[in-house]
Amino acid sequence: QTQQQTEDYLFKIVLIGDAAVGKSNLLARFARDEFHANSKSTIGVEFQTQKMEINNKEVKAQIWDTAGQERFRAVTSAYYRGAVGALLVYDISRRLTFDSVGRWLNELQTHSDMNVVTILVGNKCDLKEGREVTTAEGKALAEAQGMFFIETSALDSSNVNAAFQKVVNEIYYIL
Ligand code: GDP
Repeated sequence: QTQQQTEDYLFKIVLIGDAAVGKSNLLARFARDEFHANSKSTIGVEFQTQKMEINNKEVKAQIWDTAGQERFRAVTSAYYRGAVGALLVYDISRRLTFDSVGRWLNELQTHSDMNVVTILVGNKCDLKEGREVTTAEGKALAEAQGMFFIETSALDSSNVNAAFQKVVNEIYYIL
């Protein structure tokens, strides 16, 4: 089709993963270039819409943050509804959060009707001393489960933009 593309794209992207892996801070870094050492926003689902560009086309990424509801029980299905992308985050300094990845992936697949573009994100890669999960392990799990892989730091900003750009690009290219 060669019709002029004037419509906007709106991609719903969800952040998932165990509590305290850095989901809120990844979003804060990406959307506002902020980092919070120990704040936790009020409980409840929140999203932020961020304008991005691909091939001279404007894409709106609507990025959802659990804002802590994963601490109490499974994230609601409304959270996943209509999502076309996901950043599945673990903390490279806490192996337990890496062990949860399979459960989150399951949850994502149960709640979404579409094939959701998923990036496995090993966050807190600034913590060189405390690392409990190697880059190779992250990569291998991602490959085995059909996910993309990236390591980030919301603290020093490493790869944060790249992670969000990656998910948006991959969604765009499978449209
Ligand atoms: P969430 O529960 O997954 O949303 O996690 P938060 O964004 O609230 O972060 C949990 C804790 O980890 C907070 O104390 C953050 O300051 C810290 N944190 C988040 N991202 C990073 C990071 O990239 N590096 C380091 N060192 N700490 C981080």
